[in-house]
Amino acid sequence: MAGTALTISTKFVLDTTAFCEASALPKGRLLYPTQVADELKSRGTRLRAELSGAKPIFVKKEFLAKAEAARKQTGDRLSPADISVLACAIQEKATVVSDDYGVQNTARELGLEILVLSKRGISEQWSYEYKCKGCGRVYLQVGICPDCGNRIKRKRV
Ligand SMILES: [Zn+2]
Repeated sequence: MAGTALTISTKFVLDTTAFCEASALPKGRLLYPTQVADELKSRGTRLRAELSGAKPIFVKKEFLAKAEAARKQTGDRLSPADISVLACAIQEKATVVSDDYGVQNTARELGLEILVLSKRGISEQWSYEYKCKGCGRVYLQVGICPDCGNRIKRKRV
């Protein structure tokens, strides 16, 4: 019972780097924008996406525009698929899963939660801790604490 709390309360938007390079995908509702589905096909990682049970999401224009505006702020070079990942995270109120530095950087600009699966990327510059607001236990990702039911928040350390 405790384990399921973490699963249902956490949504993740995966980009292609997450599907390609992740050794382990996060537990939760895995989503990806339909724009990424096209990219997956070409990179031969579609099977992995299907096996993960991730669900394709149609991202609305207004959220794409929001993500694009943030990208202009940061000056990051992002592909249309990258933009759609960020837009999808805004739309679905989900955590961004990406190993791409530009995606992570723009996600921070948008105030989105970020999960880095590999050792590369922004995690080299900042360390994050996932700590329960209630009991202070430390976890590997955001969600709901299976121990006390409070939110697990990301904190820069
Ligand atoms: Zn707790």
